[in-house]
Amino acid sequence: MTDIEKTAEMLRQLGCEYRTDARFDALTTFHIGGPIPLLIVPDSTEKLCGVLRAFRENNTKFFILGRGSNLLAPDEGVDYPVILIAEGEFSAVSVDGNTVTAGAGALISKLCTAALDAGLSGLETEYGIPGSVGGGLFMNAGAYGGELADSLISVVSVDRTGELITRKKEELSFSYRHSSFTDNGEIVLRATFLLKQAPQEQIRAAMDDYMNRRKTKQPLNFPSAGSVFRRPEGFFAGKLIEDAELKGYAVGGACVSEKHAGFIVNTGGATAKDVKELIAYIRKTVYDRFGVLLEPEVLTL
Ligand SMILES: Cc1cc2nc3c(=O)[nH]c(=O)nc-3n(C[C@H](O)[C@H](O)[C@H](O)COP(=O)(O)OP(=O)(O)OC[C@H]3O[C@@H](n4cnc5c(N)ncnc54)[C@H](O)[C@@H]3O)c2cc1C
Repeated sequence: MTDIEKTAEMLRQLGCEYRTDARFDALTTFHIGGPIPLLIVPDSTEKLCGVLRAFRENNTKFFILGRGSNLLAPDEGVDYPVILIAEGEFSAVSVDGNTVTAGAGALISKLCTAALDAGLSGLETEYGIPGSVGGGLFMNAGAYGGELADSLISVVSVDRTGELITRKKEELSFSYRHSSFTDNGEIVLRATFLLKQAPQEQIRAAMDDYMNRRKTKQPLNFPSAGSVFRRPEGFFAGKLIEDAELKGYAVGGACVSEKHAGFIVNTGGATAKDVKELIAYIRKTVYDRFGVLLEPEVLTL
């Protein structure tokens, strides 16, 4: 039995869903990346913890996947299991008074819409970020001056041994596109946000405004992973790339967006190799022209 077959047998015993035919290109917004030998899709904390405990015992390497919207996955795929946090209790969103609790796999947009439906304000700027709540807290995703963590009050996570941890926001750190979860290897299970009551029309108008700004400025008609680079101190990455006359510059199917130079778009058949080469070219060109070294925001597996 191979390691993957042994893990599949363990998953059958746990009653945990899995697939052996998954690919990163179908699970990432870049539509790039090769096979995943074992995609594990737990739908409950209990099953996830069972998997983590077994992985701990066998020292099995694995990767946690959210909605794949900030990821550049390898063309050749990976040779270890990937755990997808998206199904069952992980996609649930519930409202209780002024608080909203979302499973880590729930789309950020679903969280925002649940808040709107309940007449709760505080998440409007996040509407339209295409990731999950767990990926959003890992990255401390944000937009238009807001961050997902702004209205956060607590998070339930699990460490790599399968131990559950509940923390208040004050016990966690969040900074620009970085959080405690970026460093501690824990898996976010669910998060609770404290919001304020406001008229629904006002919340809806703000959400529509932020979504319209995205549609106007971002190349949403092409696969991408959003902004490729972090915002350098005192500059905007997109403006530097545009000023370096790189709009439209392409390597294979990977191209600097004509609409927003901070985005690399997959114009068809782009490989991770194309994107990496293009990133390296952009970094070198911008550094040579302006002396600013751009740091990638997109995570490379
Ligand atoms: C068109 C477009 C627009 C975007 N706009 C924005 C924007 O305005 N602001 C912004 O900040 N980002 C933006 N992004 C990037 C992306 O949506 C965010 O970074 C998002 O938070 C990633 O979440 P995800 O679920 O897709 O994570 P993934 O891409 O699946 O994973 C990203 C990282 O999070 C980890 N992770 C995922 N789930 C969990 C979990 N439950 N527990 C622990 N770790 C986890 C993964 O292991 C990985 O390291 C944009 C992307 C696109 C494609």
